[in-house]
Amino acid sequence: ASINDDEYETTRDKLIGGLLTADFDEGSCLSRYHKTFWYRKPSPYKPSEYLVTKLRSYESRHKRCGPGTKAYKKATKNLSRDKKNYASESAGECRYVVWIADYGLGNRMLTLASVFLYALLTDRIILIDNRKDLGDLLCEPFPGTSWLLPLDFPLMQYNRFNKDYSRCYGTMSEKHTINSTSIPPHLYLHILHDSRDSDKMFFCQKDQSLIDKVPWLIVRANVYFVPSLWFNPTFQTELTKMFPQKETVFHHLARYLFHPTNQVWGMVTRYYHAHLSKAEERLGIQIRVFRDQGGYYQHVMDQVVSCTQREKLLPILSTQEEAKVNISNTPKRKAVLVTSLSPEYSKKLKNMFSEPSRSIGEIIKVYQPSGERYQQTDTKIHDQKALAEMYLLSLTDNIVTSARSTFGYVAYSLGGLKPWLLYQPNDVKAPDPPCVRSTSMEPCFLTPPSHGCEADWGTDSGKVVPFVRHCEDDTYALKVY
Ligand code: GDP
Repeated sequence: ASINDDEYETTRDKLIGGLLTADFDEGSCLSRYHKTFWYRKPSPYKPSEYLVTKLRSYESRHKRCGPGTKAYKKATKNLSRDKKNYASESAGECRYVVWIADYGLGNRMLTLASVFLYALLTDRIILIDNRKDLGDLLCEPFPGTSWLLPLDFPLMQYNRFNKDYSRCYGTMSEKHTINSTSIPPHLYLHILHDSRDSDKMFFCQKDQSLIDKVPWLIVRANVYFVPSLWFNPTFQTELTKMFPQKETVFHHLARYLFHPTNQVWGMVTRYYHAHLSKAEERLGIQIRVFRDQGGYYQHVMDQVVSCTQREKLLPILSTQEEAKVNISNTPKRKAVLVTSLSPEYSKKLKNMFSEPSRSIGEIIKVYQPSGERYQQTDTKIHDQKALAEMYLLSLTDNIVTSARSTFGYVAYSLGGLKPWLLYQPNDVKAPDPPCVRSTSMEPCFLTPPSHGCEADWGTDSGKVVPFVRHCEDDTYALKVY
């Protein structure tokens, strides 16, 4: 039977303008098709037809090359044959990039999206390190196959990927031990905060002409390296077609890749219905403190209050006298979702607004789903709470996040929100101004290369292309605007 226009539109919307494939069973992963529908206002950002086409062709490539296929078996076998030159023999249709799980969940989600985009640009398939708990957090994103790297994958037994690893690309290029006549069966890309420029330049055209021939790439990363991919002219042409709205890269890729498992989704939806759904407006405040265990500091509290009041996200409290003359008949119900390792911030905010009559025109309710005290990455329930909270934050209308926090970057970008960024406090005083409204919803690349690819070694990397500039919350880091 043919479907009518309405049904067609509904289906399209549920699939976020074709971003998602319809080929999954709904029950196995409830978040996949339901979330935008029920909880989030439709995103004003639509994926391009070109991106949709790229994703569908990626999915069929992943099916042909993924674990369990003949191609995968052949490729893993070749891995141990230490042939000198892979350029002379075609690596076949299937080339791989393996993502290694490292650092906190925010870091992981940013690097997963970066590595996936790199796979899209270079016609590779992404396989992810399955030794940690990612399978308890996220559903499979590609239909009819798996993105989990089989546990018996030969290279994973070593766990020695670092700059001094013999097949580390940066090290090899510094020592000139890689060239077009000696292509190794695998390479390791080191894209962490301590990377050297020789590691960071892997995306440049000259480097890519070699790297492209290597059948297996292993990536350890903890930074969102997408902004630098725009420096490669070939990638830039492709990226512009995929993402005509440049700042939507993570927003679209995250909604395509990251679907919380039913267990995590239960946490999100229960909390949402219990506390957030009835409010007329939702404000998210993510407080991340990068010192000691990330506990409570009065100057951080002062900063949050001063930012939210200055930006009119929360009301300035009136005196009892003022309140008497200013009573509004229909005060706006506003829910404030605070996330932090420390439970104290939300307690203080709750106290501030406990007398509704003093916040003229608004009734403020403050909630915080958890206060875990310290980071416990790779503990299943802790990571599930973290993911649930990033999602809950992404469902708010306005969001305030902490400078340089990848947890916050995921939350606002997933939600398609331009955040108010709390400047990183130095010492013990709240910075003035306390925060700034970001003009982009892209995450920031915290440790980018210091310069562009070519002869422009002296060129500041924030001046290579006009839309890749330094971040508001970090003047060294880079972001796409
Ligand atoms: P970043 O360190 O802020 O860049 O963010 P990451 O997500 O990479 O690492 C911090 C980790 O600490 C998170 O993944 C959580 O495990 C934990 N964490 C930090 N802030 C919060 C929070 O607000 N809520 C919860 N539940 N966990 C948090």
